[in-house]
Amino acid sequence: MPPRIPIETSARHIHISKEDFETLFGEGKELTFVKELSQPGQYLAAEKLAVIGPRGEFEKVSILGPFRSKTQVEVSMTDTRKLGIPGIIRQSGDTAGTPGCILRAGEKEITINEGVIVAKRHIHMRPVDALQYNVKDNENVFVITKSYERNLIYADVVVRVSNQFQLAMHVDTDEANAFASDAEPYGVIVKIFDTESYSVDKWMEEVLRGINRI
Ligand SMILES: [Zn+2]
Repeated sequence: MPPRIPIETSARHIHISKEDFETLFGEGKELTFVKELSQPGQYLAAEKLAVIGPRGEFEKVSILGPFRSKTQVEVSMTDTRKLGIPGIIRQSGDTAGTPGCILRAGEKEITINEGVIVAKRHIHMRPVDALQYNVKDNENVFVITKSYERNLIYADVVVRVSNQFQLAMHVDTDEANAFASDAEPYGVIVKIFDTESYSVDKWMEEVLRGINRI
């Protein structure tokens, strides 16, 4: 039977390159481990940074380890308004052409020219979970969530399959508030169409023309 998918809320955070980290915190300095996160190998670091945009800033934004090849800042749509930058929805790592920002630690600061994204909502799963849900890596799916008085069906949820993952769906704070998640929120994938590829736009057009496929 397909498993429940725990839904975890990602607050704004930073993945940082070793080079950028050393520029801000000193040569040879390493991230200070605080606690493990749900995905194996990922952890919360003690170091924090201010994220600064043209209109506003957030202080004490958490850094998640380990180091990545490129620095990436993940914020919510609401956060991008406060920073004064466009909100660009991307999968993690796909940062070409995204807005930049200033990152500051104490007296030191760096400017990144790109890398501020609103993370596309996604599900981490192992191959066995993908088999049970009959989904593939990179497939977009619908997820039904359960909530007190605010049930929500998410569209455009991308599935990521790897042996390195632990089953979890990741949403940002805006998305979590949209369904008013309770203590232990979870969701399930539903196949609304029998084909693998679907388009919400096409679905809407069909309904407006009086065609109902479900
Ligand atoms: Zn994730």
